[in-house]
Amino acid sequence: MCRWTVSFERRFVLLLLMLCSAAAEAGLYPRVELERVREVYGVNIEAVLFDDIRAYLTPEELKSLNKVSLTFPLPDNKDSVDVFGFAIDLNSGQMAFPAQAIKFFDDLALSFAWYEHTGQDPTSIAEYVVNLHRKGLPFLPPLAALNVPEKAWEQSQYVDDVSQKILKSGLAFLLLHELAHWHFKHGAYHDISYAAARKQEQQADDFALEVMARMKTPPYGMVVWFLATSLVTSDRVTTHPLSRDRLNAIAHSLSESPGRYISYENRHSLTKQDILRLAQDIQDIAARLKQ
Ligand SMILES: [Zn+2]
Repeated sequence: MCRWTVSFERRFVLLLLMLCSAAAEAGLYPRVELERVREVYGVNIEAVLFDDIRAYLTPEELKSLNKVSLTFPLPDNKDSVDVFGFAIDLNSGQMAFPAQAIKFFDDLALSFAWYEHTGQDPTSIAEYVVNLHRKGLPFLPPLAALNVPEKAWEQSQYVDDVSQKILKSGLAFLLLHELAHWHFKHGAYHDISYAAARKQEQQADDFALEVMARMKTPPYGMVVWFLATSLVTSDRVTTHPLSRDRLNAIAHSLSESPGRYISYENRHSLTKQDILRLAQDIQDIAARLKQ
């Protein structure tokens, strides 16, 4: 993980949450691009789970991790692909991080960083996510639709730092969240009540936050993730239901003990105030979420 110096501008959250929607997703990228993502990002994401995260797990948690495998599926139907579909098979321990969902998260991370760097109104990013889900394909992928240079990170150290921070911390959280479902032997959502599902979500989030605190890595990327998913999933059932309670619990956990993300090594680049701001951003998303 890299340095953690930059915080999000609050206005991102406030502006983006004016919008909401629901509809179908679809295949956004050329297959050859997704094959490249699977290869290049796949290696990195495996390293995050099986090297970086592994180093911070207890012996009991390691036993669970040892039975997990990670795959990066390509869309099998170009019209029926979910851009948020990270999941784990609760019978086999196989985690699926679809190449398209990884690429979409990466593009959103880069777009946010680029818009912040260039002083553009990030409402356009939210509108894009909403319209994509309303209208489906044919639709341009995020960078082309939002006029973000393909290699925007080359043009600014800030954009490089912020976008990487969003993507890496977001993926680490999502990997840990899935690992928790496996570790705590959670039930499949079609077998349990909505209340039970929410309880499972909270336990999975708590686990992710706990391990990220051990790693001294604040979950910055989850602001972008929750923003994007809250725009499109609030009124339909998902595998990881997003609720106001769930987001408030995350915000509460962050604000209750902000110091646990700070270490001797990162004490000059990260303050408790940064963590409290992150908590507030997530709380703002919760406040605008439809129950
Ligand atoms: Zn979940």
